[in-house]
Amino acid sequence: MITADVAVVGAGVQGASTAFGLTERGVANVAVFDKAFVGAGATGKSSAVIRVYAPNMLEVKLISESYKWFMDWENRVGGDCGFVRTGWLRIVPEGEVAKLRGCVAMVRSVGFAAYEVDATQVKEIAPQFDVSDIVLAGYEPDAGYADPWSVTQALMAAARRRGAQLFQGVEVLSIEVEGRRVVGLQTTAGAVSAPTVVVANNAWAPRLLGTLGIAVPIVPTLYQVAIFHRPPEIGRHVSCTDGSLGIYLRMEGQHMTLVGTSTGIGHVDPDKVPDHPASDFWADVAERISRRIPAMADATGGKGMTGIYDMTPDHEPLLGPVPGYDGLYVQAGFSGAGFKTGPAVGQVMAELITTGASTLIDWHLLRLTRFAEGRPLVGDFDHLVAADVGKIPWP
Ligand SMILES: Cc1cc2nc3c(=O)[nH]c(=O)nc-3n(C[C@H](O)[C@H](O)[C@H](O)COP(=O)(O)OP(=O)(O)OC[C@H]3O[C@@H](n4cnc5c(N)ncnc54)[C@H](O)[C@@H]3O)c2cc1C
Repeated sequence: MITADVAVVGAGVQGASTAFGLTERGVANVAVFDKAFVGAGATGKSSAVIRVYAPNMLEVKLISESYKWFMDWENRVGGDCGFVRTGWLRIVPEGEVAKLRGCVAMVRSVGFAAYEVDATQVKEIAPQFDVSDIVLAGYEPDAGYADPWSVTQALMAAARRRGAQLFQGVEVLSIEVEGRRVVGLQTTAGAVSAPTVVVANNAWAPRLLGTLGIAVPIVPTLYQVAIFHRPPEIGRHVSCTDGSLGIYLRMEGQHMTLVGTSTGIGHVDPDKVPDHPASDFWADVAERISRRIPAMADATGGKGMTGIYDMTPDHEPLLGPVPGYDGLYVQAGFSGAGFKTGPAVGQVMAELITTGASTLIDWHLLRLTRFAEGRPLVGDFDHLVAADVGKIPWP
């Protein structure tokens, strides 16, 4: 039988980061299980954009702390996280300018460079952009994107060097309990004895925790990404989340541009994700990006990507101990934003498991039961208003 002090379900960036944080704190006997392989889930599909701008201070703290890790990756973790500094623009419709100002202020409050920029300044930052509709935008010059595969492999490799075991191709079927105490797992490779279990398996968390009758408010939602060969005259360009057009974009390597959308298709089976974006998706995003970067009208299609966001009703993760079960923790529901927070969340989880507290955030705000208690996390300057939370369908 496999025995471990802590069993982690899922070897995405989140599970790998927790394994890293635990082994860093001396918990060497960590076993990580993935039904596929390291990075096989949302992590390997991630656009991996890293910017600190977020709807609330809690997320701002998690991202700005993670940013320090990405910048010092070789020393802290080892290897290269593949960070490419592009800068990042946040464009919002006129009605959201006040929220934008609040978000920029929050980013600055943690000592990170962020500015309000008008249309003329946006044109200086992004000469390729049509700025005719821009009233005010946010700009983070130090933002960029990283390589999600390298990041996750590096976290896992460092954890393994300190004693963690990795089981790929092993599915966790159920969590074993005696009374209200976790004692291990049942997996496709047999039983596992472990007094602590971390459920870090993204959109599959409802299924696994459901074996204990625990309701998890995560809606698996399909997102698609198109990657275009951009015309050479466009050259390098800034990354951008464009709330007016409902898209985000960044460079992909030297010659390509990746474009994703802010809306997905809810209630999909995370095991039945199509390999490629739907054909009508290409035309839609090609038209939208050409409105912001007119020269993209001459772009040609390249490759595409599909992946799952594990959406919660307030678009914030579910973190911490699962009430009613000693030794059971959840780390899921990152709602399409869990790459950039990965390093810090792993630290939070490792601290919670080893000390029962987090020095970085008030993790209670992210507790699993907040929806049942009617206390979703609604940000100080959130782009999601409280009324919208109720409109998001539960599984
Ligand atoms: C298209 C796309 C673009 C994105 N862009 C960004 C971005 O720009 N910036 C950002 O910050 N975030 C982004 N995200 C979100 C981010 O990638 C995710 O939030 C993050 O990778 C989630 O990591 P995870 O470890 O929680 O989940 P995953 O990477 O999905 O890992 C979960 C793992 O659990 C395994 N698993 C599932 N069930 C079981 C089981 N029963 N037993 C064993 N193993 C199991 C799966 O195989 C999987 O490998 C994006 C996501 C997608 C899909």
